[in-house]
Amino acid sequence: MTEIAANNFIRTIIDEDLKTGKHTAIITRFPPEPNGYLHIGHAKAICLNFSLAKEFNGQCNLRFDDTNPEKETDEYARSIEEGIKWLGFTWSGEVKHASDYFNKLYQFAEYFIEQGLAYVCDLSLEQMRMQRGDFTTSGTNSPYRDPHHEYYRSIEQNLLLFRSMKNGEFADGSKTLRLKIDMSSPNMNLRDPVIYRIKRVHHIRTGDKWCIYPMYDYTHCISDALEGITHSCCTLEFEDHRPLYDWILSHLLKARLVPCHPRQIEFSRLELQYTVTSKRKLNQLVEMGVVDGWDDPRMPTLLGMRRRGYSAEGLRLFIERTGVSKSPNNVDFTLLETSIREHLETVAPRIMAVLNPLKVVLTNYNDGVTVSREAAFHPQNAELGSRICTISKNIYIEADDFQEVPEEGFQRLRPGGEIRLRHSYVIKCDEVVKGLDGKIIQLNCSIDHNTLGKNPEGRKVKGVIHWVSQELAFTAEVRLYEQLFTEDKVDGQDFTRFLNPDSLQIVTGYIEPSGKDFLPDETNISQFCTIQFERLGYFVPDFTGVDINTKSTKVIFNKTIGLKDTWKK
Ligand code: ATP
Ligand code: MG
Repeated sequence: MTEIAANNFIRTIIDEDLKTGKHTAIITRFPPEPNGYLHIGHAKAICLNFSLAKEFNGQCNLRFDDTNPEKETDEYARSIEEGIKWLGFTWSGEVKHASDYFNKLYQFAEYFIEQGLAYVCDLSLEQMRMQRGDFTTSGTNSPYRDPHHEYYRSIEQNLLLFRSMKNGEFADGSKTLRLKIDMSSPNMNLRDPVIYRIKRVHHIRTGDKWCIYPMYDYTHCISDALEGITHSCCTLEFEDHRPLYDWILSHLLKARLVPCHPRQIEFSRLELQYTVTSKRKLNQLVEMGVVDGWDDPRMPTLLGMRRRGYSAEGLRLFIERTGVSKSPNNVDFTLLETSIREHLETVAPRIMAVLNPLKVVLTNYNDGVTVSREAAFHPQNAELGSRICTISKNIYIEADDFQEVPEEGFQRLRPGGEIRLRHSYVIKCDEVVKGLDGKIIQLNCSIDHNTLGKNPEGRKVKGVIHWVSQELAFTAEVRLYEQLFTEDKVDGQDFTRFLNPDSLQIVTGYIEPSGKDFLPDETNISQFCTIQFERLGYFVPDFTGVDINTKSTKVIFNKTIGLKDTWKK
């Protein structure tokens, strides 16, 4: 299994912590919110957390950060588990949930109230915003925390009110519980952050048991501590939240309410050219109907990339190459493509398919004389086996492998010219047949029967082209994809302005019969195998090819990625 980049600053920290005996074993975690499918940015956090645990013989938890019930669904949670497994990782023990700790989180909130460190506040969100101040001005104390104010609440009053909040005695949004820290702190996160709000929403796991829900910052650090996490790796936007993380945990640790105080370490987010890495924006694409669901092969989601035919190995290779640091980056899209190709190149069986057919009649085809060759599915990987490339009287070649008036440097088929058919004979173009409209509809060619597996005598034939037997090929719907966006940096609010209207093109493909060997017999997508159509690129069968009306199965291939090198010329 590919490991995350050999050296990065987080690995160095862990190494030190183990050497100095600060820890004897490490525990990391991946804490997604089940409010969408995982995307390529998450792949970075997954690879980092799981690989570190693996490398240092520790453990990595999967914990759903399920504190925002209105946006969270079970479908999202399942898709996240599936994505992680597909990437090749296994979490330690049972799946964990922030909601597993709702009771403790509540008790700890009472503890903070008892210590005079939390209070119930009636300010609306808008009022709170007004009183918060900004980077140059201090905030104003809430009247409910200020002992000089008539609204001031004692510890006992706060406790009673908080219990009443829990018991459903107040309207949604009418009260919050806030930590009492410092309204003039230069760090806005320490200006009396809200830790509980009233919200009557059904929760996917706790149902209607709670009408108050804890906020992310409060929940996250406590969940980490309760699970004994040693290193809590997250993205840089949480750097300013670290003082709050530490504030909460140092109080709870002092009171021995939590077993440890994990260390939060931030690294920079993965951003990728031509790609949005935000669940909110991806959701917008789904809602707008720009794509057909979260796992559309154009989506940068883990399940979209799987359906596109990317391999988990290729994706891990890419993540490894992006490294781990604190500097912002917008990774070059070619790095992703190169990594995906690099893996597929060694494992994908290669067959022939024609996507833009031109009919060729082999005029001297003769059943008794014309022979078909056996060819390996991969030039270096014999384990993939071989098949017979059966030639027939009528074949298809790619229309652009023929030019009636060849441009300079064109080395494929031309009138009177010769070409090698891949895994078969050299043929010569004797006649170009045109329809009434002057368009070329057929080529009549003759086989040089003396060229099977050997060079023609007395002359050189440079080009090699792929072909399929017209009689034996099967057809499939082939979906060709381009980037979803026309700009490499898809930043800012209005990313929909850069949508590429031509990101999907559908053509009919003619595929050599052995292609059927690589079609899954059921819709078990994990068995889907990406194959190479020689000279065209990598393609993967899609699982949506069942027609509900006719109950018939249509074969669909998604184009994974093009080839870097072709043996075109
Ligand atoms: P989004 O903005 O897409 O909703 P998020 O950070 O809110 O992302 P979470 O489900 O909270 O999504 O993320 C789970 C973990 O994945 C977090 O630890 C987060 O830091 C990490 N993560 C999210 N996006 C990226 C990214 N682009 N690069 C690296 N790690 C990421
Ligand atoms: Mg988040």
